[in-house]
Amino acid sequence: MEIQKSEAHLDGPLFKNALQTIEEAAKLINCDPNVLERLKRPRRCLTVSVPVRMDDYSVKVFTGYRVQYNATLGPFKGGIRYHQNVDLPEVVGLAALMTFKNSVLGLPLGGAKGGVCVDPNKISRTEKQNLTRRYASEIASFVGPTKDIPAPDVGTDPQTMAWFMDTYSQEQGGYAQPGVVTGKPVEIGGSLGRNHATGLGVVYIAEKAFEKVGIKMAGATIAIQGFGNVGSFAALFSHQRGAKVVAVSDVSGAIFNGDGLNIPELIEYIKINKILKGFPNASSITNEELLTLKVDGLFPCALEGQIDTHNAENIKAKVIVEGANGPVSVAATKILHKKGVFIAPDVIANGGGVIVSYFEWVQDIMSLFWDEEEVNNRLKTIILRAFDVGFKFHQEKNVDMRSAAMAVSVQRLEKAMLLRGLYPR
Ligand code: GLU
Repeated sequence: MEIQKSEAHLDGPLFKNALQTIEEAAKLINCDPNVLERLKRPRRCLTVSVPVRMDDYSVKVFTGYRVQYNATLGPFKGGIRYHQNVDLPEVVGLAALMTFKNSVLGLPLGGAKGGVCVDPNKISRTEKQNLTRRYASEIASFVGPTKDIPAPDVGTDPQTMAWFMDTYSQEQGGYAQPGVVTGKPVEIGGSLGRNHATGLGVVYIAEKAFEKVGIKMAGATIAIQGFGNVGSFAALFSHQRGAKVVAVSDVSGAIFNGDGLNIPELIEYIKINKILKGFPNASSITNEELLTLKVDGLFPCALEGQIDTHNAENIKAKVIVEGANGPVSVAATKILHKKGVFIAPDVIANGGGVIVSYFEWVQDIMSLFWDEEEVNNRLKTIILRAFDVGFKFHQEKNVDMRSAAMAVSVQRLEKAMLLRGLYPR
């Protein structure tokens, strides 16, 4: 697609990768050209200034975004990221991924994403609350339980969602509006099982992917990049199933133990020390070394753009499960597919978070809440169904799993758009 000068927001690497997968998927399913044209652009992009009273009484103005990519299948849905590298092109890319994720998972939701350019580790709790409340109020007229439903992402958590929900509710006359965000604490309408949902989904998919290539989870060696909400729970659930998590990483670097790290101890260690560095019974390795370890499973659970043409040839894992959004580029996917590496793509593999967000939204609407077992079981059913549909396409058409998942996704969106008469033939 040719990008004009005024369209710099469409020019980021993450979105360009997404565009490539959309175009390839469209070819595979012979997609209606009018639908394809629409699917290649976000519906709307909002940029807001977020003035925040800092602890020293100065005012700092941050920049925030909310990109609503597509609402064919239902209300817009997607997380809010706080990170120092957030910019509009990144949020557009993430919003596109949410659209195709929700479609392949079969959820009645559109795709969106938000973010604020801020290093959440460099502001105080009060500053984070002030920032969240002002950001929520700046985008308040664009979101709502039937319009656009934010959720946590990198740098945001249940507490952030509680502040967001409270601010939105105050703007609606003070009436509690739990359904405006998901990933809330359970005390205010959150769902049991939401906090660990993405990590659990990663492990359900890893078990399935391992099975396809003849590896058993018990005894498998696994390296995990990132030890935030996704990576830490993926490590814990893998460990509980008897896998050897030999390496994990965070901003302080990566640690390795060939016999498997003691994950429950590591989680306790992080609670006290905040970073992995210094954990006993482990040696330090670099992030690049972690990615290229000879392991059964590599789970990139941090940020996008980690495996590209510069390191794809060096990857030695048999299976990659994308806990993050966009960690492996399209070019790298092709190289790895040729090498025989099985990639469970982000739009399926990290879908556990938004699947349980969907359950949370449904429970809020009903005002009737499920127990954790019910949530976990329903999550398993939906995520494995998406995997099976993707896997069938992958086998029948002999394409990599990312192309297969995207093809299924684009096909569902195409059908819905044509049924709604959005783009008549
Ligand atoms: N931020 C998560 C994602 O990238 C969850 C989104 C949601 O629950 O709406 O899928």
